[in-house]
Amino acid sequence: MGEFDTVVVGAGVAGLTAARLLRRAGRSVVVVEARGRVGGRVHTDRTDGRITDLGASWIHGITDSPVAAAASAFGMPTTEFTVGGYQPDSRPIAHYDPSGHRLSPSAAASYVTDIHTVDAALVDVIAASAPRASYLEVTEEVIGRQPWTPERADRVREYFSHRAEEQYGAAIDDLAAHGLDDDAIDGDEVVFPDGYDRLPHHLAEGLDVRLGHVVTRIEWSGAGARVTTAQGIFAAREAIVTLPVGVLQSGDVAFDPELPDEVAAPLSRLRMNSFEKVFLRFPSVFWDDDVYAIRQQGAEGAWWHSWYDLTRLHGEPTLLTFAAGPAAIGTRGWTDDEVADSVMAQLRRLYGDDIPAPTRVDVTAWHDDPFARGSYAYMTLGSTTDDHDALATPIGGVLHLAGEATWTDDPATVTAALLSGHRAAERVLGREIDVTGAWAD
Ligand SMILES: Cc1cc2nc3c(=O)[nH]c(=O)nc-3n(C[C@H](O)[C@H](O)[C@H](O)COP(=O)(O)OP(=O)(O)OC[C@H]3O[C@@H](n4cnc5c(N)ncnc54)[C@H](O)[C@@H]3O)c2cc1C
Repeated sequence: MGEFDTVVVGAGVAGLTAARLLRRAGRSVVVVEARGRVGGRVHTDRTDGRITDLGASWIHGITDSPVAAAASAFGMPTTEFTVGGYQPDSRPIAHYDPSGHRLSPSAAASYVTDIHTVDAALVDVIAASAPRASYLEVTEEVIGRQPWTPERADRVREYFSHRAEEQYGAAIDDLAAHGLDDDAIDGDEVVFPDGYDRLPHHLAEGLDVRLGHVVTRIEWSGAGARVTTAQGIFAAREAIVTLPVGVLQSGDVAFDPELPDEVAAPLSRLRMNSFEKVFLRFPSVFWDDDVYAIRQQGAEGAWWHSWYDLTRLHGEPTLLTFAAGPAAIGTRGWTDDEVADSVMAQLRRLYGDDIPAPTRVDVTAWHDDPFARGSYAYMTLGSTTDDHDALATPIGGVLHLAGEATWTDDPATVTAALLSGHRAAERVLGREIDVTGAWAD
């Protein structure tokens, strides 16, 4: 049995940040990780020399971002890509109408103005909404007040629906009204042409990380914590547990005693989403020049409504789209070719039958991944934003939950994971420490 000051469960960004800060403070720390790699939901595929971020891609706003600071300290190059928050107009976007024709600049401007009108009014409506109100109810309330034709209202209605799906991987009527409150973006957004996984790899340098160790049991008491894996038991004064919400809810890891109500109740109100990425590489660019994204309105866009042009990252013509919410559920179990055919049918509608077939397709399956069980957590009806922080309530002075879902300000992000790891380390040490220590040396 290994004896440590702290055992950290999970080598994602939350766990690695916590471990690094504790080690820097002179603690003995072991990180126990089920997968054969670090990074968790930050994962870069490098097959054939192509760089594909299968998990996180974006820093959603680099101003005052600790992830941006870490990436800069680790020498990670970035590419500006400020459309990651489903903005309607942050950068040039080619909008297509329901019949597949590109909106004129003035039609696009009116459409975007309508979206901003609803967004501005939503702030007060959400603040006054009932505890179990859905995002659908609050948007409907605002859209219903506008003197718009049904057609005009439908376009805006579907924008908000797609934004809920793409930002949270959830259907708009299943997302709590406050579920998109935290979505402000400060500064440019960036992506990583060399792969986001450089971040966890740098964070892991010099740490004692035990890969391939699937945790099945976590015991805790006043005397400390014992973490059981098939390869052995790790005992420590405290445990930091960064398991994703879906893994915590699955029962795959037994807690003894069970998680107390202060933590179990908020956990029950969060849910793992349905959100997958679809990357399509082509021999040539056939879509609109000089746009960051392509969006299509109307019924044909029910599943495939947005494509992001990643060509600027590596020079190879590449579009990224998302199977988000209902599309992810509807395509579950499909082969990659079936998904590609379905996406291509929509691209052919916009760009003609003679566009080239993709030369390579990558489709993620985070939902089927037993160590993630989805891409990230969202607030289902009845949840409040405080549920995130409540999930990290220290348990018996011994157990600390961390991870993206435990951070209220900006959950579902790498930033949240990193800051939650910092908070867990501070709680273990019982004092404040500077987060920059995680990338200082
Ligand atoms: C498709 C996708 C797109 C995303 N896009 C973005 C984005 O653009 N920007 C952004 O900021 N965020 C994005 N995210 C979210 C971001 O990736 C996560 O919020 C963040 O990486 C979570 O880090 P974490 O440390 O909390 O959890 P994880 O990275 O999941 O780490 C938890 C670790 O626990 C391990 N584990 C699980 N079960 C066990 C077990 N039984 N025993 C031992 N170990 C176990 C896991 O393998 C994992 O390594 C995206 C995520 C996905 C999947």
